[in-house]
Amino acid sequence: MDKYEVVRMIGEGAFGKAFLVKAKENNGQCVIKEINFARMPVKEKEASRKEVTLLSRMKHPNVVTFLNSFEEKMKLYIVMEYCDGGDLMKRISMQRGLLFAEAQILDWFVQICMGLKHIHDRKVLHRDIKAQNIFIANNGMKVKLGDFGIARMLNKDIWSLGCVLYELCTLKHPFEGSNLRQLVVKICRGHFVPVAPRYSYDLRILVTQLFKISPRDRPSVNSILKKPFLEKLIAKHL
Ligand code: ADP
Ligand code: MG
Repeated sequence: MDKYEVVRMIGEGAFGKAFLVKAKENNGQCVIKEINFARMPVKEKEASRKEVTLLSRMKHPNVVTFLNSFEEKMKLYIVMEYCDGGDLMKRISMQRGLLFAEAQILDWFVQICMGLKHIHDRKVLHRDIKAQNIFIANNGMKVKLGDFGIARMLNKDIWSLGCVLYELCTLKHPFEGSNLRQLVVKICRGHFVPVAPRYSYDLRILVTQLFKISPRDRPSVNSILKKPFLEKLIAKHL
């Protein structure tokens, strides 16, 4: 840690903190995620070490870039690139109810899909796709998947992708209940308030496809990325 100077804390989770730091060597800004191993169950420790391994194997403009990792005094440190726009959840709440333009939604969505395709192609399932774990960089021009904390080697997390797209279109969570039971009932029935008609038919249909009750009825990232209405945006980010 003595190679870095802490600028400020940018996030805090159950087992760790995320800091914006400056590397003393070249003054470059990066993020260090500090995970405290003391009092952490063995399983969680393994999951954290796995996050490092998974992240270090990814290399894509829409996946947060891994720079380094080390263990020191019962703590695991993951050094990664800093995305100066913060996370997508904060960005959504900054809108204060003002809906995003469709072009903006699709631009971000396509990038999220491209990042997800990269990790799925490596047989890794993110498992924690949500607005809080999607980071914004380059003045909102780039979005990147981050927080591989509970990723597993498996297949399919398309439903959560639908939740992120829905939140971008409505600034709200798709399924809300006053208790867990009510929430489960709503999710299982697949009832949600439809996306406003100001958005295109293609976009609205895509949301309903991502929320199909049976996972095999949902499109894969690959088939989403083949949709003609996204073609231009995909070319832009290639
Ligand atoms: P956890 O959810 O396990 O606490 P995260 O990796 O999601 O850890 O980090 C927590 C928060 O810190 C994120 O939601 C985000 O606001 C911020 N953050 C983490 N990594 C970065 C990064 N590379 N660039 C910008 N912000 C980040
Ligand atoms: Mg997180």
